[in-house]
Amino acid sequence: MGAKLYPNYIDGAWAEGGTFENRNPANWDEVVALHTAGAASDMERAVDAASAALPGWAAMAGPARGALLSKVAEILDGRFEQVAADMTREEGKTLPEAKGEVRRSINIFRYFAAEGSRLGGVIAPSERDRVHMFSIRKPVGVVGMITPWNFPIAIPAWKMAPALICGNAVVIKPASAAPLSAWHIVEACHEAGVPKGVVNFVAGAGSAVGNALVDAPTVKALSFTGSCAIGYKLHQRASKRRIRIQLEMGGKNPTIVLGDADFGAAVENVVNAAFFSTGQKCTATSKAIVEESIYDKFVEAVVERTKRLKVGDGMAPGIEVGPCVDEGQMNTVLGYIEQGRAEAGEPLCGGRRLTGEAYDKGWFVEPTVFAGVTQAMTIAREEIFGPVLAILKASDFRHALAMANSSEFGLSASIQTSSLSRTMEFIYGMEAGLLTVNLPSAGVEYQLPFGGTKDSSFGPKEQGQAALEFYSDHKTVYLKY
Ligand code: NAP
Repeated sequence: MGAKLYPNYIDGAWAEGGTFENRNPANWDEVVALHTAGAASDMERAVDAASAALPGWAAMAGPARGALLSKVAEILDGRFEQVAADMTREEGKTLPEAKGEVRRSINIFRYFAAEGSRLGGVIAPSERDRVHMFSIRKPVGVVGMITPWNFPIAIPAWKMAPALICGNAVVIKPASAAPLSAWHIVEACHEAGVPKGVVNFVAGAGSAVGNALVDAPTVKALSFTGSCAIGYKLHQRASKRRIRIQLEMGGKNPTIVLGDADFGAAVENVVNAAFFSTGQKCTATSKAIVEESIYDKFVEAVVERTKRLKVGDGMAPGIEVGPCVDEGQMNTVLGYIEQGRAEAGEPLCGGRRLTGEAYDKGWFVEPTVFAGVTQAMTIAREEIFGPVLAILKASDFRHALAMANSSEFGLSASIQTSSLSRTMEFIYGMEAGLLTVNLPSAGVEYQLPFGGTKDSSFGPKEQGQAALEFYSDHKTVYLKY
């Protein structure tokens, strides 16, 4: 039996066309899904549909929009196992990781559904007699969304849910490497009864449909998550039209490990943040900066733990690290490993593509640890986005913090320490949008602002209450009575 076709969704109807394959990165023989390859004309239709649907959706009372988003969450919850399994098959992360992501996405819809009853503005006392002044929130309009493959349902969820609750109509373009997870949200919106045109989904190559989305005159805001290279291009293009734009992009996230840390927990946290999800989290740790006093012992323990990681098809029980998402990503990772060999010498573990019966039809790379890395080396500076950890030595905390800040990126950073003073100095001195203390650098919830600083990000933060700022505007009223 051939793979199932998952069409685009435009103006409340399923829209078919030419197709492209979505293959399992753990077993390329398996075609997980066929998706409709949208063209610029499909994107234009989707934007027109969103524009037409916008006034009705914006006029609907917030609690009524919230009730529909709650229903979307219920439908996804009813398909929890299937949606998670589809994510593992299309993206490669392990099934427990996929389940965690689906649960988070359901919770995101519930969180923003509840916002429908709270969407408040601001009220403040006037200096003038008998003047009542306040602001109300209004939607921005039609919002375009372009999302990456590494969190293929959570990122669409954390853009769509706040946009919809604020009364915007949306057009989403998912990543071509993993569009099925976002498709499940769209199907749930359709079944929940979200009015036609309010949600539109156009899969297809970014180069074919991306510009049509950014250039469409009625698109008033664009939320993008992905690489810096594409993000900067979109920014240039969108700025010409003076539309609101939010970019969440790459990182090179450090974890500082001090001599006074809980040693075992620090090892676990670094290995978890470097290798889980195959190192393909934007918040993954890709360099550990370790205080001299424990450096040798730490390197030895991390290498020993890394060698015990179970790599394989994420559907199999006990697997901790899945494949790279596709051949291109695997080759990028292998290229960085070669660069690391040239700069830092042979890695202490890993360093090769995995071969053998369980691996030959997938894009598997051994979890790889380089020690003796210095800040000048490419593997200490550039985002690799794979299972590769560079370990650097610092003479003390101040040296470690200076090395951690010596980067154009500023997405996430972590410290492992039992010192309150060092923790506070890190919190105030580290240049990153997301900090963790005695936890892995990756692993965020949805209730607080999310996003980076420096070259990693541009525009308002996502998630939590901060998301409402991007997806709504204040209308301010002065009323004399
Ligand atoms: P990517 O190559 O930049 O792709 C992201 C999205 O942009 C995809 O939907 C892609 O479509 C689309 N696109 C490509 N070319 C385009 C164009 N010319 N115009 C408009 N859209 C275009 O990134 P990725 O490989 O999917 O994701 C990995 C990157 O995302 C990493 O750098 C990672 O750090 C970053 N990321 C950041 C965060 C964060 O919150 N900061 C979170 C997750 C990931 P196609 O798939 O069709 O090419």
